Amino acid sequence: MPSTKAVDLAAHPLTAWQGPLGLPDFTRIGDGDFSPVFDAALKAHEAEIEAIAGNKDAPTIENTLAALELGGEALDRVSSIFWCRAGAYTNETIQALERDISPKMSRHFSAISMNERLFARIDDLYQRRESLKLDAETLRVLEKTWKGFVRSGAKLDADGKKRLAKISEELSSLGTSFGQNVLADESDWALFLDEADLAGLPDFVKSSMAEAAEIRGQKGRYAVTLSRSIYEPFSTFSERRDLREIAFRAFTMRGQNGGATDNTNVVRDMLRLRAEKAKLLGYASFAALKLDDTMAKTPKAVHALLDPVWEKALEKAASDQIELQRLATEAGSNEKFAAWDWRFYQEKLRAEKFAFDEAELKPYLQLDRIIDACFDVATRLFGITFEEKKGIAAWHPDARVFVVKNADGSERGLFLADYFARPSKRSGAWMSALQSGYRLGHGASPVIYNIMNFAKPPAGEPALLSVDEAKTLFHEFGHALHGMLTDVTWPSVAGTSVSRDFVELPSQLYEHWLTVPAVLEKHALHVKTGKPMPKALLDKMLAARTFGAFATVEFTASALMDMAYHARPDAPEVPLRFETETLAELHMPDTIAMRHRTPHFGHVFSGDGYSAGYYSYMWSEVLDADAFAAFEETGDPFNPSLAERLRKNIYAAGGSKDPEELYTAFRGKMPSPEAMMVKRGLV
Ligand SMILES: [Zn+2]
Repeated sequence: MPSTKAVDLAAHPLTAWQGPLGLPDFTRIGDGDFSPVFDAALKAHEAEIEAIAGNKDAPTIENTLAALELGGEALDRVSSIFWCRAGAYTNETIQALERDISPKMSRHFSAISMNERLFARIDDLYQRRESLKLDAETLRVLEKTWKGFVRSGAKLDADGKKRLAKISEELSSLGTSFGQNVLADESDWALFLDEADLAGLPDFVKSSMAEAAEIRGQKGRYAVTLSRSIYEPFSTFSERRDLREIAFRAFTMRGQNGGATDNTNVVRDMLRLRAEKAKLLGYASFAALKLDDTMAKTPKAVHALLDPVWEKALEKAASDQIELQRLATEAGSNEKFAAWDWRFYQEKLRAEKFAFDEAELKPYLQLDRIIDACFDVATRLFGITFEEKKGIAAWHPDARVFVVKNADGSERGLFLADYFARPSKRSGAWMSALQSGYRLGHGASPVIYNIMNFAKPPAGEPALLSVDEAKTLFHEFGHALHGMLTDVTWPSVAGTSVSRDFVELPSQLYEHWLTVPAVLEKHALHVKTGKPMPKALLDKMLAARTFGAFATVEFTASALMDMAYHARPDAPEVPLRFETETLAELHMPDTIAMRHRTPHFGHVFSGDGYSAGYYSYMWSEVLDADAFAAFEETGDPFNPSLAERLRKNIYAAGGSKDPEELYTAFRGKMPSPEAMMVKRGLV
């Protein structure tokens, strides 16, 4: 029986944070507490919303916008602890709760965005915004809030609202079918092989293929499957051209095999509904709707990035192909060079050009020293310092607690980090906040955390990282700095509350400092000899990663296709014919396939996440390369005046201003793709 006892939100450890350093007292939180506290916090928030919407006084910034922003504190607190536990330290109780809470939360927030009396008050402020004499940040928050309501359909008449709700519902179920169809095609297909068919495959590929076969009931054999983690290494290493071709054809036809799992009509219907939704909300195209609150803003700006990259990548790919064909001929192949040959010969070329073993780097990358390196770079760039507090309970005994201090010694906030993998933690690495930092009302200081999944070493031995893992540590710490350095008034624009094509700038940019020679010399020390990592070894590894235009061509083709589908006012009659025609216009080489063909392009069709947004991966890469080039141009990777501009306009500013304005204030100009193209080996 769930407890019917009333929850006192002002005293409960999930919502009244009375532990050391202002953290929640984790020792007093039980799994059974979440459900009743969620219910009480949702009710409390509903009452707050009702009080704002039903206020008899004329709307003011104070009684409407600020009240809306500061409302739901208890809900924020219980949510932040719950989602931290769900990702980093879960169990069956938490998982069951997740399924229960997700739909409750989505109903709760959609009721708020559909609240007509609430919108009327926001709209009233918005219409009078010029005469309210607001500071720039408040004006931006008002505009963003208003736009958020409008994009959810607040301005539509009753029929329009009904139609929009219907479209959203249909899109969401089509998106689910799309993903399930791809999954079905992937799990239905397997190519079973025997020992004699494995020529060229390294042990790690063989062992995952053996496991895949065993799961499918063919113990002792080997399965090529359509999971990227098997398909890609198989096509990279297998000497068997015939098998590579079979795998390639199956991989590129996922979602287009006829029958119940065919996505052709799902895509057609989704594109129609998206175009209709955009029209209903007053936008020229679905891309225009999606890009409206991003840094890029328009399809034209996306093309200004992608088109020059595409041109260079095609040129480079043509010259790459000549070299690969030479290798193929030397290897005795007289077949026409095909799409299932590219990865294979590219790997041969890579081995020929950059022979080295990545394992040689690992003894230089000790976890504790690389954590020091993250902190040290932050101190040199931004003046903040980190002091570990031992013995403070967090969500799990492995989580460590650090007090973050400003240059003058005052406290800025807290940083928590949980570095090691365990079965109760989901895979991957991420940053989040238990509390974000802002000044409105009583204000709050940031409590930010990082979760990693490094292998825990045996007791007494230091944890060693691969280069990728060290980069991930810097990446997530860059996100954490975005949260910790935040210096804004309004909660909704604090820290990482920025557009999708801007949010990876602070993290990807921070990765660059890992390979700055001064940082490696000080922190990348051999676990036994204490000697710094030889720079030549690292350079070789970095060069090996960015060689060839293949990755740029396969990615950019997909990004351009995403734009082609969504930047038109209507939907194409037959999407797959449109795909073929668009590729022909782009002069796509027939020896490279798109990274994601339409019938399995999950980023874009399995839900809404990256629709008209696949470009943003590359956009972020342009930003971080261009931003780091600013430091390189001064000859000092820690240039103090540039670092101050970086802190003020990027890491501290959150979403308080338009990202374009922020970037220009830091860099003196908008980013150009040159530095990224150099990094990708295109110029
Ligand atoms: Zn990231």
